[in-house]
Amino acid sequence: MEPADRIYAYSSTLMGTEISLRLFSPDRQLAAQVFNTIGELENLLTVNRPRSQVMDVNRAAGNHPVAVTSTVFELIRRARDASLVEGSCFNLAIGPIVKLWKIGFTGDSVPDRDRIERLLGLTDPRDVILDEKEGSVFLARAGMEIDIGAIAKGYIADIVKELLRRNGVRNAIVNLGGNLHAIGTPLPEEQGRWRVGLQKPFGEKEEMIGIIRVSDKSVVTSGTYERFIVVDDRIYHHIIDPRTGYPLDNELHSITIVSDKSIDGDVYSTIIYGMGVASGLRYLRENCPSLGAVFVTRDKRIILSSERSFAFELLDTTYSLSRPGTSRSGSGMA
Ligand code: AMP
Ligand code: MG
Repeated sequence: MEPADRIYAYSSTLMGTEISLRLFSPDRQLAAQVFNTIGELENLLTVNRPRSQVMDVNRAAGNHPVAVTSTVFELIRRARDASLVEGSCFNLAIGPIVKLWKIGFTGDSVPDRDRIERLLGLTDPRDVILDEKEGSVFLARAGMEIDIGAIAKGYIADIVKELLRRNGVRNAIVNLGGNLHAIGTPLPEEQGRWRVGLQKPFGEKEEMIGIIRVSDKSVVTSGTYERFIVVDDRIYHHIIDPRTGYPLDNELHSITIVSDKSIDGDVYSTIIYGMGVASGLRYLRENCPSLGAVFVTRDKRIILSSERSFAFELLDTTYSLSRPGTSRSGSGMA
């Protein structure tokens, strides 16, 4: 707790990451309720334990459909839709490949190419069959596994926001290991906008290359530096290109999405990451102009989509900044 700042911070380790909640008045009980809610959702959605509703679906692959709660059904439907967007690298059926690499878990290693190629045959999102009437999910082929890790934190952050609102909290920050909901506005000294740090890729955790200022927005980042291993001087990170079965390899180190709903930020951070800068900017402009994006490239450029939903301040001048309309990548940003 930091009473001098009139901020009361609570934290807990859940979903394999540090979850923190910042409030303007002390409320230990509400914080406990938030962490309990997150724990319950994790129990439904995790694929990192033997049992959960999602694991029940996975275990029945090729065998029979499994009825799930409407929450889990909706989330799987959303992840399936995201997987079918044209040009999307999001793939909810990527589970067998994620489990093979185990990036960020004990036993992670670079797998044999032929094992990767064999498992790619089990990752077609159209083989995830949803039955609306029964509320059931069927994975058509034995060995298939769904993984909704790329969407779960955003979904949970939105639920926490709702829970806080129901309890009369209008201003707060909930941070689910980099998946952040900046709810309402902070103290007047901050000019009505929260300051969210843009992390330096592969830097220290506290090392920021810029500040994203928002009010009442979700700020979600997908980055190569979040979970990775280094083998023979090569970095292998945790977001898999479903076309190759290897970690996505393009000009980006990270992409941050600013949105109203955190689930949108989580979905699009993964989709747009796979598209890269030029296609990603075009996609956002044509399909979801209300979303903001901050790209960080391997060659130390920071490219903003538009600053309609946020303001950006550069801290690390070893990076160059392209603002809307001035980007060398062109793309005629709004
Ligand atoms: P995020 O941090 O939201 O970018 O999600 C990363 C997590 O999503 C990974 O740790 C995997 O569990 C899962 N994942 C990896 N590759 C993909 C992919 N291509 N599509 C969907 N989920 C993925
Ligand atoms: Mg995501």
